[in-house]
Amino acid sequence: MSLCDLCESQLDRPGHVPPHPRLAISATLRTASGQNAFVYRCGHCGETLLLASDDGDAADRWTRLDAEGWR
Ligand SMILES: [Zn+2]
Repeated sequence: MSLCDLCESQLDRPGHVPPHPRLAISATLRTASGQNAFVYRCGHCGETLLLASDDGDAADRWTRLDAEGWR
């Protein structure tokens, strides 16, 4: 599977960048560090993006959620 252009441009953006129009929230998770993480699924390419911070102090960031887990 490959990311569509909308998702591609969403990746690695800071959390204050709003989700693109085809992204729909699908889950809210709690990370090991006690932060909330938000899982979004793209209705266009079917990929899953994660909005979360790497640790408690870092700002939220858009990352790709893949089989290898969170980075
Ligand atoms: Zn997409």
